[in-house]
Amino acid sequence: MALVSMNEFLPKAKANKYAVGQFNMNNLEFAQAIVDAAMELNSPFIYGVSEGALKYMGIEFTVAIAEAAAKKSGLPIALHLDHGSSFEVAMKCIRAGFSSVMFDGSHYSFEENIRLTKEVVKAARAMGVSVEGELGTIGGVEDDISVDEEHANLAKPEEAIRFYEETGVDCLAIAVGTAHGMYAGEPNIHFDIIEAVSKAIPVPVVLHGGSGVPDEMIRKSIAAGVGKINVNTENQVACTDAIREVLNKDAKVYDPRKYLTPARKAMVEVVKSKIQLFGSSNQA
Ligand SMILES: [Zn+2]
Repeated sequence: MALVSMNEFLPKAKANKYAVGQFNMNNLEFAQAIVDAAMELNSPFIYGVSEGALKYMGIEFTVAIAEAAAKKSGLPIALHLDHGSSFEVAMKCIRAGFSSVMFDGSHYSFEENIRLTKEVVKAARAMGVSVEGELGTIGGVEDDISVDEEHANLAKPEEAIRFYEETGVDCLAIAVGTAHGMYAGEPNIHFDIIEAVSKAIPVPVVLHGGSGVPDEMIRKSIAAGVGKINVNTENQVACTDAIREVLNKDAKVYDPRKYLTPARKAMVEVVKSKIQLFGSSNQA
């Protein structure tokens, strides 16, 4: 099967109240672990690729790995640019074979974000590529989430609804209190914002910073209208912990396969648990 746009599975996810996971690809082992877990559970999924990961892997290897996974698995897989920062980088990815892109214009003014996102949607749609937009500022690693986030950073439902109506994005990331990286405490997720936006628009809301969010909060988010959840940090932690354990036990190890095999296995477990939690098993 070829790579597909997110529209192959997100409308169904929203209608049936489950979420599809975006698992970020950082190298070959991540890509293999993610697709192996999804094959075991017969689930659609999204490979997220940040601009940093793109630089690290190279765009040709990134696309080739994702295409190999789609061909091998027969699953509906989207290859998605994560937090694309410009029209140019989004087009570069589409030309290289990405089936989906995120344009993150959240650091621009509201009107400018709408204008730029519309341009990406217009070009992407012509190529059959799906687009995710972002509204509001999603907190970073350094954020102290035990402190209630400033409401100024959160998305305003009426703005999010207007953003959707004007841009026509295929899914919408809104800042609702989650943050990238690991949490020091528990995130304060504003379910009321998710619900207000999701009720008013036909496409799903995207939850960024899904790593380390308690299961019950994930279930509540999905019930409120989240249809796509991004996970990266938990896989990074599982990968690195497994490698560290092998190296700490045996200082003489030099064959990378000796520590990358358990790292990959650890990531398979993380991805399987997320797919089960998100409810996308047997939805491929
Ligand atoms: Zn994000």
